[in-house]
Amino acid sequence: MRPAPQRLLEWSPVLLSRLEWKRFEDVVAAYIRVIGHQARTTRIGPDGGVDVEVLDPATGQVVMLVQCKAWDAYKVGIKPLRELFGVMAAAKITQGAFFTTGEYTQDALVFARENQLDAVDGAEFISRIRQLSAASQLRLLEAATQGDYTTPTCPGCGVKMILRTAEKGRNTGDSFWGCRNYPRCKQTFRLPKAA
Ligand SMILES: [Zn+2]
Repeated sequence: MRPAPQRLLEWSPVLLSRLEWKRFEDVVAAYIRVIGHQARTTRIGPDGGVDVEVLDPATGQVVMLVQCKAWDAYKVGIKPLRELFGVMAAAKITQGAFFTTGEYTQDALVFARENQLDAVDGAEFISRIRQLSAASQLRLLEAATQGDYTTPTCPGCGVKMILRTAEKGRNTGDSFWGCRNYPRCKQTFRLPKAA
């Protein structure tokens, strides 16, 4: 008898670290809805820009900007937090949050504290999810793990990417994610650090 494939039945840092960037954004938006706000994803891409907008239910106006960063290959530094703060200032929006599956550098945490940004790291996000009702946790888990939740999405084309091997250059032999629409789209991602 073959063993059943491993199923992830509860929220854990391992599950969080496996989510591709777009799925992570969707989970953050779903979490914000579960705690009672209106939220929409903005589809700008995995780096830069704002990923989720939180709306005032009465006026429909954006009241909070949320940036997401999946994959914990590197700690989130001060730069993306500064960028989020810049977008908030330009849009005259005072509330902002940053969610990562990984961690922040010390500089980034200080900047977040000084500017009242809610900087949520992977451990904190798990802890907040675990404070939800069992039904809400399950609903989020289902949203997170439905279908292929690990293969990254091309930010330009919105399609799942393909694992390729570099055939020339300095990184010959290394695997990377490339867009299905290459050579029309040259988007690539390095593989995340193994969980
Ligand atoms: Zn593409």
